This record gives sequence, C-alpha cells and structure tokens, in this order.
Amino acid sequence: MSSDCIFCKIVAGEIPAKVVHRANGIIAIEDVNPQAPVHLLVLPERHVANIAEHTFKGSADEITSLMETAAELGSKHAGGFRLVVNTGADGGQTVDHLHVHVLAGRHMTWPPG
Ligand code: AMP
Ligand code: ZN
Repeated sequence: MSSDCIFCKIVAGEIPAKVVHRANGIIAIEDVNPQAPVHLLVLPERHVANIAEHTFKGSADEITSLMETAAELGSKHAGGFRLVVNTGADGGQTVDHLHVHVLAGRHMTWPPG
C-alpha cells in the first residue's frame, strides 16, 4: 500500500466507494465523477503506479485478470463499451494507481479529447 494513494485507501476500506466487483486481487468501483451512464474503474488491489510500470514489474497473469475483468464488466452493457488506461501526465492520468476505465451506456465519439 502507498500511504498517500487514494485508491489504496479505497482498497483498505479507509475511503468509501461503491464496489461492484472484487476477486483475485482485482477490485472494481464506480467512478465518483462519471463521464458516461456507466463509468467503472478496475484496478489491482496492490499498488502499481501505471501500465508502464506494471509491464515492467508485473506478471502476465495479473494484467490478464485486470483486462478480463474490465471486459466482463463492460460486456454486461448492450451496444458496446470503451476501456481507457490514461498513463502519465500527458496521458491524462490523475490518480497514480493503475486503473482501467470502463465506459458504457452511451455512444462514444472518436478521437477522445
Ligand atoms: P485518471 O484521470 O485516468 O487517473 O482517472 C482517475 C479517476 O478516478 C477519475 O475519473 C476520477 O473521477 C476518479 N476518482 C477520483 N477519486 C475517486 C474516488 N474517491 N472514488 C471513485 N473514483 C474516484
Ligand atoms: Zn495505490
């Protein structure tokens, strides 16, 4: 756990969140500032800063669980969904704990801003 990480605090139960899934070291919560009718965040319980660090240090099993969970949650919504992994400052990452956004429930435009 990283002591100043908001998502680590959610994993530890120190900050409330709407948990929609929890299994095998992966947790999914509702985003507090939803950008679509469905907006979930899927993250590893252990602290990993971003997908680049994860690729460097992590295991293939862990990244598979993360992406499979995100895809399963997105697949519940007819019409499709979007997975987003913002990485680093220019990538739009604001919370430095790896997470996959699951967006669904409306038509997505391209390119993103
Ligand atoms: P990113 O900008 O890709 O790092 O995404 C961070 C996301 O975390 C944003 O969509 C925020 O709305 C969301 N967020 C920040 N704090 C919380 C919180 N306490 N509970 C749920 N989602 C949060
Ligand atoms: Zn963390």
